[in-house]
Amino acid sequence: MIYYRGLSLDRASDSRRDPGWIRSQWMRQQCRVFILRDDKSLMHWPQPRMRPPDVIDLPGARVAALVEEFAQLVFLGLDEHGPLFALDVSRHDEAQLAPLVGPYDFVDLRSVGWLLEAQQAARLALARGLLFWNRNHRYCGACGHPTRSENGGHMRRCANPDCARVHFPRTDPAVIMLVEDRSDPARPRCLLARNSRFPSRMMSTLAGFVDPLESLEETVIREVYEEVGVRVDRVTYQASQPWPFPSSIMLGFRARALTDEIDIDGEEIEEAHWFEAEQLLDFGEWGDDGDSFCLPRRDSIARYLVDSWRREILGN
Ligand SMILES: [Zn+2]
Repeated sequence: MIYYRGLSLDRASDSRRDPGWIRSQWMRQQCRVFILRDDKSLMHWPQPRMRPPDVIDLPGARVAALVEEFAQLVFLGLDEHGPLFALDVSRHDEAQLAPLVGPYDFVDLRSVGWLLEAQQAARLALARGLLFWNRNHRYCGACGHPTRSENGGHMRRCANPDCARVHFPRTDPAVIMLVEDRSDPARPRCLLARNSRFPSRMMSTLAGFVDPLESLEETVIREVYEEVGVRVDRVTYQASQPWPFPSSIMLGFRARALTDEIDIDGEEIEEAHWFEAEQLLDFGEWGDDGDSFCLPRRDSIARYLVDSWRREILGN
């Protein structure tokens, strides 16, 4: 399963352009709000944390006092219960938040997303990505004047009338690829690597950002060679995953190895090996203790690429 896909909200892309419509949604009794602070979401997760956290959404009326300016709010969409917003309280102090937060915690979706129900995870991901973009684009990149939120937080316009440039949320494309070696048809192998940022023993597919003026296929070929020194061709698209940490989309590929000697870059990649499909069955889960290699987390497209390759080879 690839997390953060399949958002079921009606984004109301036309209606949200009307500020009056957005305000009328905010005033509705059914309006609910996710609260985020510095990219962390309000959740109920009592110690000793033996079960997944509950995502908290609060009635709009209950948090109205925290809305100092309407721009802190973004409109996420409509579901069968009513409108859903997200509110950024990063600039509020503890005293202001205490009555609201109570027994709750601010938790980073990135650390718990895979424990949540998938639709809740997708909604929080949209909230996190949109609020991050708004908070980091308060000034016009062209003229330096402040920008103002429009379209329920899905667009910002420069307040300088001589500029008036509009800015939209950006998504940075990144490729992620499973490299396979089928030179011996009886023993297909895939290449997995450990990035220096990963927990020890966790092995995953290679990945990297798309450079300007580069096709996705060219990025795959370049990144594989830069990170592990292996030449690849036959780059084929598999699937994609929104990855709002903070603003990417992961584009998943498979690529065929033309060479098999591994020469790691020693900076980003600390370890890389070829594995046969049967060996992957002995891998542990992300976070497991012990000496065996671990698979990527179950909510990641890396895991999807590894699992689908293994199933294709082993038939299970
Ligand atoms: Zn401007």
